[in-house]
Parts: sequence; structure tokens; C-alpha cells
Amino acid sequence: MNRSHFLQSLAVLPFTTMEISSLTTLTDGFGPTETMPALFLGHGSPMNAIEENSFVQGFRTISKTLPTPKAILCVSAHWETPGTFVTAMDHPKTIHDFGGFPRALYDVQYPAPGSPALAQETKQTIHKTQVGMDQQWGLDHGAWSVIKHLYPNANVPVVQLSLDYRQTPQYHYELAQELSALRNKGILIVGSGNLVHNLRMVAWDKLNADNYGYDWALTANEKMKKFILDGDHKALVNFRGQGREFDLSIPTPEHYLPLLYILALQHKSESARIFNDKAVGGALTMTSVRIGDE
Ligand code: ZN
Repeated sequence: MNRSHFLQSLAVLPFTTMEISSLTTLTDGFGPTETMPALFLGHGSPMNAIEENSFVQGFRTISKTLPTPKAILCVSAHWETPGTFVTAMDHPKTIHDFGGFPRALYDVQYPAPGSPALAQETKQTIHKTQVGMDQQWGLDHGAWSVIKHLYPNANVPVVQLSLDYRQTPQYHYELAQELSALRNKGILIVGSGNLVHNLRMVAWDKLNADNYGYDWALTANEKMKKFILDGDHKALVNFRGQGREFDLSIPTPEHYLPLLYILALQHKSESARIFNDKAVGGALTMTSVRIGDE
């Protein structure tokens, strides 16, 4: 990952009076709505962007349960930064942040507009840290490879929120709680990662086997689901205290942390629905979660 541009984006550009007034006008677009659901989507292989399989069918099915959002705020495993940033450009580019895949995958463009207004709204909603306005990222495959199945016409604006890789799981959970207000402004918050994600241990020759998971992966996935359905967020935030199966499933936290962002948004009375609950290649699970009333 190239992190140099994040340093560039630390420079804060002063807004002119005119820009501030136009931002205010734009922000007025996020008036009160019913509470939007929130989604954690297991993204797995980037090939899910162009393949037809049960996972993309699962994304399509869940999209039918969603009110049309005014915009999407996406926390992707693939955007880690020192500090917290939101993409603030009008037209985020489609980033092909992977290697060794067929040409057809590099040809995919997901031209959803950005939303400088949502970027600004998100910055104002978060008090835990100073949120930087980024003009250089775009949409990484953690975002577009799954959102394209929810909104194939790319007609819903998408903003990404980065993961501050210096912070603890508890910090991420608390920061995410602050985003809850956006759910009442027509914003669909999407976390994109994988509950179980250990690329070093993937059985590449078993990628096409249906629901193939190693014992440790299946055990960890089952425990995670139980914690999710029981509302035991404390156990999930404390994933480093859950034993060997969790340690193997979460060798690095970036694919797991987006789950915490979504759980942190859950109100006590709200249910969680699990879908796409299958293992891939032994060491990945696609298990996804929908939070909110249906
Ligand atoms: Zn990934």
C-alpha cells in the first residue's frame, strides 16, 4: 500500500466563504429519515465483483430489504491510514488494489459519485478525532466489489471512511458509535471485510469447493456468529482474548474491524441477521451481517 499520499492529504485547505455556504446547502440534504439498516459484508476474493455465485446473489437479496439510501458511508478493510480520513471528492476513481487477476477485473469501473456533503457531515459527526478530508483515494475493491451488487447502476453516492491502523479495537468501536446519527439521515453504513481472513493459510486448490473451512476457521466463525446474535459486542471487541481459533482467523485486524463498526451502530432493540454464511478456501468466511429492523 502506498501511504505517502495520506501525508499529502494532511494539509488542510481553508474553505472560502462561498464554499462553506454551498456545503451548508448540500448538508441540508441529509434531513431526518427512518433509521437505516447497516451492513457488514464479507467481500472475499475480488473476483466476486464479476463472478456469478451464491455470495453475489446474497448481496442482491439483501439489497432488496434496504430503503434507498441518500448515500453510502463505507468502511473498507483496504483503506488503512495514520489518522481517520473520508473521501471528499465529487468523483472517486475505481481503484484496482490487487494483483494477478484476469484483465476483466481490471476493466471494471464503478462510477458512483462521491458526496463532499456526506464527507463533511461525517467529519462533523465524529468528535473522537479530527477527520481529514481526502482528495486522493477513491473506491477500493473492498467497497466497489460488493457495493456494485447492491446498486449496480452506481447511482448512490459513496464515501469511504478509513481505518486508523494505530488504534485499538475499543477505539474503533467507540468511534463507530458516533456514526449512529447518520443512520437517521438516510445514510447506509457498510463495513466490508471478512470475519475469518487468513490469506497465508488459504487452500488455493479448494477455492471452488462449496463451504470448505478448516476446523479452526469454522469454530471461530461459529463463535463470532453466536456473539453477534447474543449482542455480546464486548467479547468481539476483545477478540485477542478468545483463543487460538480467533488468532488464526484474525492474523491482522483490518478485515475484522469493519464488523465492529457495524455492531457499534446496533441499538439494543435491533436484531441482527446473518447471511452469506459460508467458508471459502479453508481460511476465509464470507459471513455477512445485517443490522436493523425489517
Ligand atoms: Zn479484502
